Amino acid sequence: MPYKDKVKERAAANERSRRYRQRKRDEKYGPNAPDQRGRQGNRPRGVQHYRWNSRLVTSHGYVLVRVSKDHPLHIGNGYAYEHRMVASLILGRIPTSDEIVHHVNGDKADNRPENLQVLRRDEHNHLHLIDDERRDVATGQFIRKHDARRQLDGREWNEFPEVTL
Ligand SMILES: [Zn+2]
Repeated sequence: MPYKDKVKERAAANERSRRYRQRKRDEKYGPNAPDQRGRQGNRPRGVQHYRWNSRLVTSHGYVLVRVSKDHPLHIGNGYAYEHRMVASLILGRIPTSDEIVHHVNGDKADNRPENLQVLRRDEHNHLHLIDDERRDVATGQFIRKHDARRQLDGREWNEFPEVTL
């Protein structure tokens, strides 16, 4: 398909999705739809946010704590991982980049000292390979996480529709 047609098709798809969202908005609010303009800037932050419980949790489930930007465990924007901060108290020194702080019960927000275990990177990898049982049942081979997830709904890579845009 020529590039020009692809662009047209994309534009049509965008328009369909715009109309769809408009229809859903109408169904939900009728004529009293709230003004959506500038909504990114209007959102509640910090203590006003419904997820706020005085701890900041990353999208991966790790808890962040505020530190000074020159703290050795600083990862960006003035934050550090709480589990690595607790580990530094346990060790009496800053954990090195080769030392992974593992959550024993699997809860990445549970940073009680008894739930944390400082492991070398290779030890940690080994632990998770056993833990997560990422072996192919047929061959007994370890399979990569991505492949494992892909196989979950019983389909193979080549059975998925190819995205060409
Ligand atoms: Zn771990």
